[in-house]
Amino acid sequence: MAEPRTRPDEISRSREVAEAARDREWKGAGFLRDLFLGRLDLGLVDPYPLARSTRPAFLEWLARFERFLREEVDPAAIDEAEAYPPAVLDGLRALGAFGMKVPTEYGGLGFDQVEYGQVMQLLGSHDASVTALLSAHQSIGVPQPLERFGSEELKRRYLPRIARGAISAFALTETVVGSDPARLTTTARRSADGTHYLLNGSKLWCTNGTIAELLVVMARGPEDDQISAFLVEAAWPGVRVTHALHFMGLRAISNAALQFTDVRIPAGNLIGAEGRGLKIALSTLNTGRLALPAAVVGGAKSALELSRTWAAARVQWGQEVGRHQAISLKLARMAAVTFAMEAVSDLAQSLADRPGYDIRLEAAAAKEWNTVQSWRLLDEAMQIRGGRGYEREGSLRARGEVAVGVERWLRDARINLIFEGSSEIMHLFMAREAVDRHLEVAGLLVDPRAPLGRKLAALPRVAAFYARWYPGLWLRGLVAPRHARFGALATHLRFVERASRRLARQVFHGMVAFGAGAERRQGFLFRLVDVADELFAMSATIARAEALRAAGAPEAAAARELADTFCRASRRAVARLFRELWSNDDGAADRTGRAVLEGRHAWLERGGIGLGLTVEALRPRIPPVEAPPITRG
Ligand SMILES: Cc1cc2nc3c(=O)[nH]c(=O)nc-3n(C[C@H](O)[C@H](O)[C@H](O)COP(=O)(O)OP(=O)(O)OC[C@H]3O[C@@H](n4cnc5c(N)ncnc54)[C@H](O)[C@@H]3O)c2cc1C
Repeated sequence: MAEPRTRPDEISRSREVAEAARDREWKGAGFLRDLFLGRLDLGLVDPYPLARSTRPAFLEWLARFERFLREEVDPAAIDEAEAYPPAVLDGLRALGAFGMKVPTEYGGLGFDQVEYGQVMQLLGSHDASVTALLSAHQSIGVPQPLERFGSEELKRRYLPRIARGAISAFALTETVVGSDPARLTTTARRSADGTHYLLNGSKLWCTNGTIAELLVVMARGPEDDQISAFLVEAAWPGVRVTHALHFMGLRAISNAALQFTDVRIPAGNLIGAEGRGLKIALSTLNTGRLALPAAVVGGAKSALELSRTWAAARVQWGQEVGRHQAISLKLARMAAVTFAMEAVSDLAQSLADRPGYDIRLEAAAAKEWNTVQSWRLLDEAMQIRGGRGYEREGSLRARGEVAVGVERWLRDARINLIFEGSSEIMHLFMAREAVDRHLEVAGLLVDPRAPLGRKLAALPRVAAFYARWYPGLWLRGLVAPRHARFGALATHLRFVERASRRLARQVFHGMVAFGAGAERRQGFLFRLVDVADELFAMSATIARAEALRAAGAPEAAAARELADTFCRASRRAVARLFRELWSNDDGAADRTGRAVLEGRHAWLERGGIGLGLTVEALRPRIPPVEAPPITRG
């Protein structure tokens, strides 16, 4: 068996650093947080915030932006060229798009999250590379952390420049550090006189890295675990693009490997306090990751339009392919899921704008759930479109056919499940919050390091909490509201209410059954999170359909049908997840997975050409300092 490379003390150090960076304090209301505790707080999602921004200045800007996309942004050409045309970058600057969320007092457009979400949805329906450019800059690049954590001096210096079009990037990932940023190796050593820091190290996969003027860089003090965030100008001596990086999709993104050699950062360019860098990075991502769920809704709408029209246009075996039941079922699912994805995204964007709301869990759920649904939906669009789905746009165009590239959409969409918090990390993050209240109350009892005396002392408090909370979950069922106002959808809402109480009980049962080992039971925890995601999506979908009815919208009846179709499928998924919580093959599959990892099934790989790989050869290494520079631009 191969020697494990990460020692237990490293694992626990990573956890401790991540835990220290976690926002432990809950800063207001939270729909999903309550759901994990068995409370369906319908007031947080109903009445559903139907109204998108009607601010005249915003609508006028959005119309100009849409015209610009139609006239200047050709997604197939951008994909083919693997670069942004200078006219597109200039046009975005002229529109002020790099200052969308920068407050007006610093020269930006001052959009709120709902408005920004509307822009991202429109953009996501058209071009994923430009979406990545603006989202990496605006959602996680310099403007967000600077506005939230920077000094007034720093804001005055940089935000107007950003609003005028200085592109920025977010540099956290390194070759050896991906999902576990607490172990990053880039260092920032403070000078003896305290006037500046010296930055050394390298960063990987920095979106906008080859064209950015400004970077937010996470680096640690050389002798400690303290990670800080710095605003670094790309033109400063010692900042180098060592490689321009290229991907399966998002072909035009200007992504870079960066190197920092003795970069002198003025002390004033520290963002927030020293040692707060990881917290700044994580909390930037908390809201920053709301751009993706909006963008993939746009993509889903385009895929739905193509699937619907193609399924009606294409005749095989004597009828339109959409009339064959297998395809009709796909169309139903695509439409219902698109309605649900939009309900989730719009709700999450609007909750983020609500004063006193803690958006962490909804942002993670919206990011994870919408990106997974979008990937499945695009796969179905590819299947409905048949061979033409797999054919590149240029090839379709050359044959005189309508050039819509499902293959490009799929290539572009896959990364959404990996960056800005991979699906697995989003599950872990939500699971951590799900058990948080229980850990707060009963953590001592399941902590193997806690002395027996302290455990015994904690017992009465723990017993008092659960003696009230647990029966309360059952009792609430006796007086659960009927939700008659929701008509035919009320039955689904009652299901959500019952399931939320069951969810809370299962979280508790898991804590009792697995104790301190619960965090290693990812199969169990991830199913709980999947249940919560489905319940959130159902709630948003039902509330949205009801709001359309209440508003007398012409599409109200159609929306109800889609909400019903979605909820039926979602209920089946939830029932299966609950069933499989305690009746599954996780133990056996985990044993097999470990056997595969240890090479005991490597025999199975014989008979192919073989890649000649070794674990040692694949292990990433910190790049050498003397890599040749590449000219920026
Ligand atoms: C196109 C592109 C653009 C990017 N842009 C940026 C950017 O602008 N700035 C930036 O800083 N980074 C950026 N990234 C990096 C991106 O955020 C990382 O790829 C992501 O964080 C995952 O890290 P990793 O690829 O090293 O995967 P790893 O962390 O090595 O993980 C490998 C796999 O293991 C899973 N995994 C890891 N830990 C656990 C766990 N504890 N439990 C269960 N599963 C686990 C992961 O989900 C993943 O499936 C970009 C990457 C790409 C490809």
